[in-house]
Amino acid sequence: MLLLEERIRKDGRVKTGNVLKVDSFLNHQIDVKLLNRMGEEWYRIFKDERIDKVLTIEASGIAIAVIAAQYFGAPVLFAKKAQSINIDGDVYSTKVQSYTHNRIYDVILSKKFLHEGENVLIIDDFLANGCALEGLIDLVDQAKANLVGVGIAIEKGFQKGGRELREKGIRIESLAIVESMDAATGEIKFRKQ
Ligand code: 5GP
Repeated sequence: MLLLEERIRKDGRVKTGNVLKVDSFLNHQIDVKLLNRMGEEWYRIFKDERIDKVLTIEASGIAIAVIAAQYFGAPVLFAKKAQSINIDGDVYSTKVQSYTHNRIYDVILSKKFLHEGENVLIIDDFLANGCALEGLIDLVDQAKANLVGVGIAIEKGFQKGGRELREKGIRIESLAIVESMDAATGEIKFRKQ
């Protein structure tokens, strides 16, 4: 999506450790118009599917998922990060290695809100090594719901998540795929899609 690529080029900042900062428009200050265009684009891509739930993970996925979900007319469910959990049977839970914070979180989702046979679209801000996505997919599987596909705002194509998950047959639609980025020069190259 050209609009998103242009915005990343203009306002994205490449940090050491392969981190792209987009907090001036995506995950701290939020450009609502841009998020609307992204929602429209995912709707164009997935409009032939029935979507019962849009699933994301807190915190930065929520705004993106909420705006996208309006196009699908479906509720948003966000998986919660918990410091520690008492598994009392009311929640699905999984573990996610955090890319940006270098630690493992327990992630939970109430069984009340995701049911067998429901069609799920996952939306998230970044795809890097795929840990967050694997955790969300695990929750969908535990609920015996159906994963229709995944909408990612920014995929870092030089990290393994996208390749590995597509090889497993998961439909991943990333609006921008960063092919390479250089913390020294600030240069960002995108994969042609
Ligand atoms: P993964 O689990 O695929 O390795 O990483 C995905 C999660 O880590 C995303 O939900 C996002 O919050 C965070 N993340 C990964 N890479 C970046 C990055 O380059 N910049 C920012 N801002 N977040 C990232």
